[in-house]
Amino acid sequence: MIVVPKEKHVYSFGPNMKEVARAKPGDIVIFETLDALGGQIKTENDTIEKIDFSRVNPATGPVYVEGAKRGMALKVKVLDIEVADRGVIVTAPGAGVLGDKVREPKTKVCEIRDGFVHFNGLRIPIKPMIGVIGVASEEEIPTGTPGKHGGNMDTNLITIGSTVYFPVFKDGAYLALGDLHAVMADGEVCVSACEVSGRVTVKVDVVDWKIEWPIVETSEAYYILVSHENLEEAIREAVNQGVKFIMERTGLSWDEAYMLASLVMDVQISQLVDPKKTIRVKIPKIFLGGTFRIE
Ligand code: CA
Repeated sequence: MIVVPKEKHVYSFGPNMKEVARAKPGDIVIFETLDALGGQIKTENDTIEKIDFSRVNPATGPVYVEGAKRGMALKVKVLDIEVADRGVIVTAPGAGVLGDKVREPKTKVCEIRDGFVHFNGLRIPIKPMIGVIGVASEEEIPTGTPGKHGGNMDTNLITIGSTVYFPVFKDGAYLALGDLHAVMADGEVCVSACEVSGRVTVKVDVVDWKIEWPIVETSEAYYILVSHENLEEAIREAVNQGVKFIMERTGLSWDEAYMLASLVMDVQISQLVDPKKTIRVKIPKIFLGGTFRIE
């Protein structure tokens, strides 16, 4: 088993990443992670405008995966996510969907106990997820920005039991991850989730599958994750990718695949608040013929 400590982290996914560990296909890797604020927010008096932004969104890694060649896909199965016993939620003027209405920066510290986030008197069941997860990109992309390489996709489906596939741009893939959330709703409207440090256990693998954008697989569906500065462009490209996926897997014509997509493929929002917004399309496996497998 390979353990990557939280001190080994990066702030961008670029072409010159240097590995801090090596894994073989099938290996189990544990990533210890800082929270998205780099652990700088400790009390409710620590607000977001006081922190050092060069230490925001640390991603632990990267891990070189042997056999991951450019043009293939890196397969990452999320086996476990453990989160710390306290999380922070932050917002600030200009941040999030209603940033123009926020008058001053605010921080809330929440206790995480017995499987719940405790928010004022409310108990919210935790659903741990990975906000930042990605591979080396062809250009230097800050860990706070999502894209074809993954990154800050803030998608709550990237959770225990899911598998995430990434296009490989650089031999070895260079997997890094961080920015855990104890719970986050679709949209992440106030700009942050319940941000926590923790530990992620994954199994890495390599598959001969050419993909353009990250794909999440659950027991019932595939989700293609597309990010763009412009929400409508993100939706358009996600739908385009979804129709192509249905066509390839079913043998339908493009027009028929487009029609089928209209009946069974949901368009969903992952997040609306990062430098690029992330949209996903959900393609239920049951309409792909039932016998289809990636491997
Ligand atoms: Ca995030």
